[in-house]
Amino acid sequence: GLGEKLQGVFKKLKGKGKISETDLKAALREVRVALLEADVNYKVVKNFINNINDRAVGQEVLESLTPGQQVVKIVNDELTSLMGGETSKLNMSSKPPTVIMMVGLQGSGKTTSTGKLSNYLKKQGRRPLLVACDIYRPAAIKQLQVLGEQLEMPVFSMGDKTNPVEIAKSALDHAMHYGNDVVLIDTAGRLHIDEELMEELVKVKKIVNPTEILLVVDAMTGQDAVNVAERFNELLDITGVVLTKLDGDTRGGAALSVKAVTGKPIKFVGMGEKLDALEPFHPDRMSSRILGMGDVLTLIEKAQEGFDEQKAKEMELKLKKAEFTLEDFLDQMQEMKKMGPLDQVMEMLPGMNKGKLKGLQLDEKEFDRARAIIQSMTLEERRKPSLINGSRRKRIAAGSGSKVQEVNRILKQFDQTQKLMKQFSGMSKSKKAKFKLP
Ligand code: GDP
Ligand code: MG
Repeated sequence: GLGEKLQGVFKKLKGKGKISETDLKAALREVRVALLEADVNYKVVKNFINNINDRAVGQEVLESLTPGQQVVKIVNDELTSLMGGETSKLNMSSKPPTVIMMVGLQGSGKTTSTGKLSNYLKKQGRRPLLVACDIYRPAAIKQLQVLGEQLEMPVFSMGDKTNPVEIAKSALDHAMHYGNDVVLIDTAGRLHIDEELMEELVKVKKIVNPTEILLVVDAMTGQDAVNVAERFNELLDITGVVLTKLDGDTRGGAALSVKAVTGKPIKFVGMGEKLDALEPFHPDRMSSRILGMGDVLTLIEKAQEGFDEQKAKEMELKLKKAEFTLEDFLDQMQEMKKMGPLDQVMEMLPGMNKGKLKGLQLDEKEFDRARAIIQSMTLEERRKPSLINGSRRKRIAAGSGSKVQEVNRILKQFDQTQKLMKQFSGMSKSKKAKFKLP
C-alpha cells in the first residue's frame, strides 16, 4: 500500500548521511508515483510535491545533519496540512437542537454512519433523535429502526408516504417537545447524483437549517469519492465529510484528496461495520500512520475506552514491577477484545506492519484454546515464560490438545502484548491531555 511505498522511499533517505538535490528529486519522484497509484488527485499531488521540494531546498535541509529525517518531517507536516491540519470538530448549535443532515450516494454508509454518530454523541451525554427520511427504499426505514433498537436510540419516522421535507420538519417539532438536543437526519441516496435527489436535499436543508451537512463517502471508491464530494459540495455547501470503509482494502487516495479538492474537512472516519467503528479524523495521526510512524494516540484512546479502568491500573502496576504474567495476559485478551480486532489495534503501533499481524486476531474459539494452553502450563511457567523451552512447549501442547505452533503463537502474542502494555503505561498520561475528541 501507500504507507509501505513511502516508508521504503524514506528508509533510503534516512540511511544517507548527506542528501544531494538529485537524491531528493529521485525520492520525490517515487513519492509522486506512490501517491498517484494510491489514487490521489493529480493536481493535489503536483502541489504537494512542489511544496515539499520548496521547503526542503529552501530551508537548507539538505545541508543539515539529519537531512533524511528532516525531509520525512516536512512530508509529515505537508500530509497533515493536506488533510486539513487541525482536527475538525463537530459544530453544535448554541440553540438546540443541533441538526445534522447526512447525505451521500446509496451504499456509501449513510444509515450506518448516522447510527454510529448518534452512538458517539450519546456517549458524550447528548440525547440524539434519528430521523428516517429515506422513503424510497422499502427497507431503509426499517434499517434505521433496527439500528435505533440496537443503540436504544429514538427513531422518528412517518412511513414512506409523507415527503422527506415534511418528515424533517415534524422531526424538529418532535425533538423540541421531547428534549432531543441533536437531530440526525438520514436521507436517501441514489446510485448516481441526479437532479431530483439534489433538489429534495436542498429543500430539506432549507426547512431544517442544519448546523452540519455531513457528506458520507465510501473510501473504496477512490477518485470517484472525490468527484462525488465536489458535486455535493457545489449544490449543498456541505460542512464536512464522513469517510467510510477505511478499514477495507482502500488505497487511501480519497482521504488525501477530499479536503484539498472541496475545501471541506473530513470529520469522521468509518473503520468497520460495527456501531462503535467511527472515529474522529485526526490529520496528524493519519499522516503518521501513512508514514509508518504509528498512531499511538488513537490506540491509547481506544484502550482507555475499552479497558476497565481499575484493571488497567492493576496491569500498569504489574508491568512496572515486571509481574505481567501469562495469567494476566488471559485477562488482558478479554479486555482487548473490547477494543476491536487485535490486528487493527496492533497496526496502529509504530513499527508494526500488516504482514506481521496477519493471524493475530482472536475469535471466541481461539480464545478458548489460548486459555487451555495457558492452563496447561505450570505456575512457574506462567510467571516466567522464558522458561518455556522446546520440550516444555511439546508437553504444554500435548496437555492442552493443541499443536506446538499454537503454543508458540500464544507465547508470541504474549510477548507483543507485553510490549503494547509498556507503551500504554509510558505514554497514556503525558500525551493524552493535548488531544481532545471533538
Ligand atoms: P447507505 O445506503 O448510504 O445508507 O449505506 P448503509 O449505511 O446501508 O451501508 C451500506 C453498507 O456499507 C452496509 O453493508 C454497511 O454495513 C457497510 N458499511 C458502512 N460503513 C462501513 C465502514 O466504515 N466499514 C465497512 N467495512 N463497512 C461499512
Ligand atoms: Mg441508507
